[in-house]
Amino acid sequence: MPVKTKKSQRVPDASGYFGPFGGQFVPETVMGALEELCTVYAKLRKDPEFKKEFRELLEGYAGRPTMLYPAKRLSKALGIHQIYLKREDLLHTGAHKINNALGQVLLAKRMGKKRIIAETGAGQHGVATATACALMGIDCEVFMGVEDMERQRLNVVRMQLMGAKVVPVTSGTQTLKDACSEAIRDWVTHVEHTHYCIGSVVGPHPYPMMVRDFQAVIGQEARKQIIKETGRLPHALVACVGGGSNAMGLFYPFQEDKAVELYGVEAGGVGMSLGKHSATLVKGRPGVLHGAYSTLLQDEQGQVAVTESVSAGLDYPGVGPEHAYYQWTQRAQYVSVSDKQALKGCQLLCETEGILPALESSHAIAFLPKLAEKLPKKAIVILNLSGRGDKDVTTLANELYPDASK
Ligand SMILES: *Cc1c(COP(=O)(O)O)cnc(C)c1O
Repeated sequence: MPVKTKKSQRVPDASGYFGPFGGQFVPETVMGALEELCTVYAKLRKDPEFKKEFRELLEGYAGRPTMLYPAKRLSKALGIHQIYLKREDLLHTGAHKINNALGQVLLAKRMGKKRIIAETGAGQHGVATATACALMGIDCEVFMGVEDMERQRLNVVRMQLMGAKVVPVTSGTQTLKDACSEAIRDWVTHVEHTHYCIGSVVGPHPYPMMVRDFQAVIGQEARKQIIKETGRLPHALVACVGGGSNAMGLFYPFQEDKAVELYGVEAGGVGMSLGKHSATLVKGRPGVLHGAYSTLLQDEQGQVAVTESVSAGLDYPGVGPEHAYYQWTQRAQYVSVSDKQALKGCQLLCETEGILPALESSHAIAFLPKLAEKLPKKAIVILNLSGRGDKDVTTLANELYPDASK
């Protein structure tokens, strides 16, 4: 039965549960490291000095606050009163992931760790982590499937330029899932001097909470900006959902504002049968993946499904436990749009506003026509533009202008 979140019910609880979701489903050997992280983070999240240092990095290095941009021509084209774009695409390195990377690398330094490890699929989290490590002068190793290394060569070079070591993972399907397993294996053996930097609101407690807190700056700014600009709260928030960090970062500071509708948009890929999409909350069932109990895409036997999406950043069979909780409590609604619709969303923003969005963010844009049907006349909508699309130009060329090279 759906339950209502009351202000008194802060999530997660002390064991890292968001209702039934979350927790720590990890080998015994990792428990010590997680406990240490929980203890340190519980202290640091209230430490004024840490908060100040983090804020200085966000403002003085990453480029915060990001603007809340009124997209007038886009609004007109869609028949929506006013759409505002939260411009995370304007951040250093081109997406919201730098918020979390700076937070975690700063935390690792405070813990006295000498080395950071991360896993990456599309390479975006790897680049953000390598960037933060270069800035703070700390060793960085990024685990990446060899299959992904070939597909995302540009990001491999970006990491190497930042002085990071990219470790090729040759096990299993040689993609993100195997890179995760390899990173955990490394962490277990080097835990006393190594911090494992996870890139979204996923993984065992305290990661979903910690990454959410680091990304919540998106929603904190947006909430202040929209009130200053319009004198009221928005009708709806829209964000794409891969692991769920940019969406949770925007949603979280609005969670008590019950009149504000929250929409998470997942990747519908090339069809809604298992294996053809990455719409985890729309189509998945509860289960354990990468250290947490959440919703995931799995077959009848409980085997984790393969996923598909035109955007590498959304191509993941799991999702953060707090999103599973928001869906369960009906605080947020989750929908999906197809590859084709996302490509159209990308073109629409380019042509109406002169802004090239990441293919991930394009999924959120592609949901707007559907949302427009049920919005009241004077509706204000905030859409999280999680990243810029320069990284996707090759994909866009192949998808939209396939004959150009002939
Ligand atoms: C990685 C990425 C995403 C998906 O990750 P979340 O944790 O769901 O935010 C979305 N947009 C961009 C631009 C990304 O790089």
